[in-house]
Amino acid sequence: MTRLGATALAAVLLIGTTVFPAVSQTLRLEGPLIQGGLLIGHTDPGSVVTVDGTETQVSRGGLFAIGLGRDAPSTVKVRVATTDGSTTARDLKIERRRYDIQRIDGLPKKQVAPSAEDLKRIGDDSRRIAAVRADASALTDFAGGFAWPLAGRLSGVFGSQRILNGEPRRPHAGVDVAAPQGTPVKAPADGVVALTHGDMFFTGKTLMIDHGHGLNSVYAHMSAIEVEQGQRVLKGQIIGRVGATGRATGPHLHWGVSLFDIALDPALLAGSMTPPVP
Ligand SMILES: [Zn+2]
Repeated sequence: MTRLGATALAAVLLIGTTVFPAVSQTLRLEGPLIQGGLLIGHTDPGSVVTVDGTETQVSRGGLFAIGLGRDAPSTVKVRVATTDGSTTARDLKIERRRYDIQRIDGLPKKQVAPSAEDLKRIGDDSRRIAAVRADASALTDFAGGFAWPLAGRLSGVFGSQRILNGEPRRPHAGVDVAAPQGTPVKAPADGVVALTHGDMFFTGKTLMIDHGHGLNSVYAHMSAIEVEQGQRVLKGQIIGRVGATGRATGPHLHWGVSLFDIALDPALLAGSMTPPVP
């Protein structure tokens, strides 16, 4: 390159930086640093973000999501490498939670073996749900904030667990909201309907929404589903009705939110319920 060429290039670069000052936000995080929480990250477009050593999807605009699971460790390491070669690392201190654990011992050992047909259904259902959870679209709807899909009495909290005769059962991976049969269920955030199923063994009429980057939500036990797979839904739009389909003792909505298969606490995402339920 000639000296003139180099000078001209320098001038162009200088003008470039002068005219378009880059607002650097190498690493900015929103959300609660607590087990079950969702963090929304903002970084410079083109950056590579790793969370505890695993690379995380970053949108063209520099958005990313970090999911803090029920048993997330006390420290989570986030590292950002920007396109100019600089790196930023931050150790996030994660607040530990106490979960509602019920130990019930001395239960009679009654073995109700599910039929072969039931087992097949249970397997098919979990494969369908797992397939949705394994997918990561380019949507960035997860960053738009979440609202409660309905108002009602919280009849089940995130993370609770029963230990029956010393055998730990799977922790509750969402929240339960009790409400009359037929109560409208609204999309808590924008997204695309990723799954509808008319009769899953445990969860009955089941709906899943993809909010992007692996963040998905699930709605179970509904009496009706009012949207179709592949349909774009907007926050506040009615997606179904409360019911008691599948294995449910009464009408309620089970609402779950996961980042891939890491269950998060929907109550942390949605905040206080409006209208408040006495
Ligand atoms: Zn539930």
